[in-house]
Amino acid sequence: MEESKHELIETDSAQPRTSRPLLVVVSAPSGCGKSTLCDRLVDEFPKITYSVSCTTRPPRSGEEDGVQYFFLSKKEFKERSKNGEFLEWAKVHGNFYGTLEDTVLFAMEEGNHVLLDIDVQGAKQLRERLAHMDPRHPIRRGFTDIFISPPSMEELERRLRGRGTDEDKVIRRRLDNAAGEMAYAKEYTFQIVNDDLEKAYHELKTVILSAMGLA
Ligand code: ADP
Ligand code: 5GP
Repeated sequence: MEESKHELIETDSAQPRTSRPLLVVVSAPSGCGKSTLCDRLVDEFPKITYSVSCTTRPPRSGEEDGVQYFFLSKKEFKERSKNGEFLEWAKVHGNFYGTLEDTVLFAMEEGNHVLLDIDVQGAKQLRERLAHMDPRHPIRRGFTDIFISPPSMEELERRLRGRGTDEDKVIRRRLDNAAGEMAYAKEYTFQIVNDDLEKAYHELKTVILSAMGLA
């Protein structure tokens, strides 16, 4: 039986249940299962939406510009960074990735809860920026952060290889970076181990629903 979809903001078209859109940062070492978990969340809750980031990495097979990412040249990325358009940006696994502030604010103004799938450096940058923002700023008011860990490095490697999207050199680089990324886990308000997928998804859902005051 298909699971029912949930409206998290509107109980009816006029009365919002919560007036505070969330900005949820989710970070994890690559291959951990973050997309699997977050895609399911976005699918179940139509009011939760991804912020589409910019990247200089080439598209993977099946990826489309403006859907998974905005694929930019390095020159374009640098220009946008110089213009102060990014809420945060970082060099991850040899490529640049960044979140456009306008993308996030627009989605929040539309009444959506926004998921930021960003790396540990970007999350750190964002927390530092928040500290200087007005406490009433929607980004600061809605902020929460979650770190997802793999059950072990061996399992992480199995998942990266099993996914079959990256060549060996790329997988090795991602595994090399994973240990360093795990050291940042303690900076996040919530930490979830993605061992059993159902259990991890339940934990993720509970964190989000309670941030909304619904659990
Ligand atoms: P990420 O977005 O963190 O890079 P993915 O969501 O693409 O990772 O997951 C990497 C691979 O691991 C995929 O093939 C996915 O199906 C698998 N996977 C995700 N979660 C689990 C889990 N709990 N147990 C086993 N395999 C998993
Ligand atoms: P992938 O190349 O597998 O899509 O993503 C690699 C890594 O880049 C992931 O850890 C992902 O969270 C991170 N990432 C994606 N978009 C952004 C972004 O806008 N900013 C930052 N800092 N990291 C990002």
